[in-house]
Amino acid sequence: MRVTVDGITVRPAQGASLLAAVRLAGAELPTLCHDDRLTPEGSCRTCLVRSGGNVVAACVTPAVDGTVVEVAGDALRALRREAVEVIVAALPPYALDGGVDDRELARVCHAMGIAPQAAQGRGGRGRDDSHPYVHLDRDLCIACGRCVRMCAEVQGTFALTLVGRGADTVVAPGTGGPWAQSDCVACGGCVDTCPTGALTEPGLPLGGGTAAPARTVTRTVTTCGYCGVGCSLEVLTREGQVAAVLPDHEGPVNRGHACVKGRFAHGFLRSPERLTRPLLRRDGRLEPVTWQEALEHVARGLRAAVAAGGPDAVAVISSARATNEENYLIQKFMRVAVGTNNIDNCSRLCHAPSAAGLTASFGLSGGTDTFDDVETADCLLLVGANPIEAHPVIGARLLQKVLRGARLVVADPRAVGLARYADVHLRPRPGTNVALFHGLAHTLWAEGLADEEFLRRRAGGLPELLALLADYPPDRVSALTGVPAEDLVAAARLYGRAERPAIIYGLGVTEHLHGTDGVRTLANLAILRGAVGTARGFGVNPLRGQNNVQGASDMGALPDVLPGYGKVTDPLARSRAEDVWGAPVPGRPGMRIPEMFAAARAGALGALWIVGEDVCATDPDATRVAEALEACPLVVCQELFLSQTARRADVVLPAASWLEKDGTFVNFDRRFQRVRPALAPPGEAMTDFAVVHALASALGVDLGCRTPAEALAECGRVTPLFAGLSHERLDREGAIAWPCPDPRGPGEARLHRERFATPDGRAHLAACPYLPPGENPDDHYPVILVTGRRWAHYNSGGMTRRTGNILLDDTDRLDLHPADAARYGLRDGHPVTVESRHGRATLTASLSDDLVPGQVFCAFHFPSSGVNTLTSDHADTVTSCPEYKVTAVRLIPGPAAAARRGE
Ligand code: SF4
Repeated sequence: MRVTVDGITVRPAQGASLLAAVRLAGAELPTLCHDDRLTPEGSCRTCLVRSGGNVVAACVTPAVDGTVVEVAGDALRALRREAVEVIVAALPPYALDGGVDDRELARVCHAMGIAPQAAQGRGGRGRDDSHPYVHLDRDLCIACGRCVRMCAEVQGTFALTLVGRGADTVVAPGTGGPWAQSDCVACGGCVDTCPTGALTEPGLPLGGGTAAPARTVTRTVTTCGYCGVGCSLEVLTREGQVAAVLPDHEGPVNRGHACVKGRFAHGFLRSPERLTRPLLRRDGRLEPVTWQEALEHVARGLRAAVAAGGPDAVAVISSARATNEENYLIQKFMRVAVGTNNIDNCSRLCHAPSAAGLTASFGLSGGTDTFDDVETADCLLLVGANPIEAHPVIGARLLQKVLRGARLVVADPRAVGLARYADVHLRPRPGTNVALFHGLAHTLWAEGLADEEFLRRRAGGLPELLALLADYPPDRVSALTGVPAEDLVAAARLYGRAERPAIIYGLGVTEHLHGTDGVRTLANLAILRGAVGTARGFGVNPLRGQNNVQGASDMGALPDVLPGYGKVTDPLARSRAEDVWGAPVPGRPGMRIPEMFAAARAGALGALWIVGEDVCATDPDATRVAEALEACPLVVCQELFLSQTARRADVVLPAASWLEKDGTFVNFDRRFQRVRPALAPPGEAMTDFAVVHALASALGVDLGCRTPAEALAECGRVTPLFAGLSHERLDREGAIAWPCPDPRGPGEARLHRERFATPDGRAHLAACPYLPPGENPDDHYPVILVTGRRWAHYNSGGMTRRTGNILLDDTDRLDLHPADAARYGLRDGHPVTVESRHGRATLTASLSDDLVPGQVFCAFHFPSSGVNTLTSDHADTVTSCPEYKVTAVRLIPGPAAAARRGE
């Protein structure tokens, strides 16, 4: 297509607007109601051009072949200026002064020569400053609707609307009332797109918006340190403080979007509770000491532990919050300096079954496809995940996909998030996933929806699976799971008949007694359908929880594998590492996290080093975890704050946060992305990378790789999976997916296209029978508790509770069905004691139809509520991942003390 703009011929894409053609020609137009991410509206009339003899709004007029466009004529300029002047005239005088002078409207006025005095409105419409992160000045609203469309078309929350008539039209929460009580989830999209400064982030000392004065502000592009989505963020700092964190429009996953955590939850950085000096326990009290004293104490303790029990008397829990390079260095320290494989990370508590299950099915432990492909699927099977709250940017992208026509099957006990938009919502009883997946597989096969040619060529295990599936007809599966047989069949048909189906799943699949079986039997569906490793489907993709839980495992912070997943029992894998490290690598797998705690309680662990994990708040059966720490002679904890775990440590080392580090993270779809320090750590706090080096020095060991860049380069020599990656390349090219064996080749975002990575090159169907969960309700504990996340907080809440997010969600609530509330005498907003066979917690009852009777839900973002004293030590039989999703409990009105007294 050819379009001529003021005599310049350009070739816009099919379907492009005249605005796109004008921009291609290098001409500029004001576009006050336009944002490239949103449906064009053409309401502000500031982008007027002449085309075909008519004056039209360029943003809403399609370009067609042969169009001639006039932009530059004086008459057109006058029309555009008049449109802007009309808008400006209604605004109060301060609209164009310093407070908001870098907003788009101010820049447009400046370019057109419209003086600030043109703003002559009376104002008086008032403000809404009720929300911690989004403030509204109604007098600056020009009713362009960008915020409303951003909330609908990008975020998908539909929280905003335009109210009033004519000149009084203004944005408002759709629920009426103050912003703080609206449905707003504080993604910040409305603030970012607002062209006038009507919507601002409070306290932002930059004049608002993304265009802060360059002379005073440093901009650092880094990767979000909250969830595993891996949003690229632009951090604006001034005078050593974070002034704002904005979504990076070049971000490959987030594409200019973010959520309340990445966008706003940085206030913890300047919390007075930040640890800034090492602490050492003396006479039962943690006292500030120098780094030298702390490190010497730790080194002495490690030597004593090894002297008493050998290297395996030392263990480390590495961190999914830390960078790849830090995890690499920590596992090298343990294997080289201590001589043990006793290293694990919190993937043990979330996606260890994914690693085991996906490896068994496909040969590699990552999700099979890039999310960009998943987003082009025509049918989504979303299982055990609530991305709207736990992975908000992915949740928003999935929702938009569904709103534009993709079919959606949700399998989740709760009616949350995307379930409201599902074609079929399957609500299996917690703990019955394997039966559910077998029921779906049974129907796929019975109705001829399996791809037999694919199965013949590329899969193994079909006869065994078919023999097993004979026992899982819909009626039986319905009895096992509680899912109506017709819903099961409808879901299987949707997935089986789709052209390009994709599976996305979360911790609702993994955190079970048979979590690995869950992953494998879910993977069966993609294999049966021929929807993995082909162009006909987008595989099986886990949504990873913490920011770098994928990377921590990739780097070998696991007891049985080295960086790149070579088994420690494999002499070849060991010798490759030994060649690089110049030291022997122990060949016996180390302890998993639960085994570390058990060894500590048994007196067999002399030292436990915990990096950035609040195990006393997040690990199951927390009372027993605390007992383990009490029993261990030396507990070292690296943390930002004095967490529940740090309080029990013998040595507490102040750590740098993700905004103060250099390195890389790996997100949920296996992309390496750069992490860059926007600030220096406070006080004497150090990066985990520096701490590991300092501790190695205290033991007289030189770990080499002096910088994070050197560490990643060395890791690439240990494993071919990452051999093509480097900081320099990531800085130049942006995100790169692994496997990436070649510095000149691209990473493999799509896996298994030619062959699967299993030893025989075939996908492996799993014929594992359904087995019941570890906990079942009975007369004493009649209700099933499921735990998970809420949108405003992250994990144990150590960071988010110390930000404005606490004003959005200030307590751990227990969601329950009104019928259960009536049955147990509970009232909305009142305290409820939850008792399990393992512990007791006090929460606030929150009545909700999202739950079915007999099931309750809570998060564990507030350690003081003690939720993880409730959860059991039942764990996945393959990987030891805890059964967080099924705990039998009973509910008693009132707080725990009252419950104990029987009041
Ligand atoms: Fe993105 Fe997750 Fe960070 Fe939110 S928490 S900004 S979704 S990476």
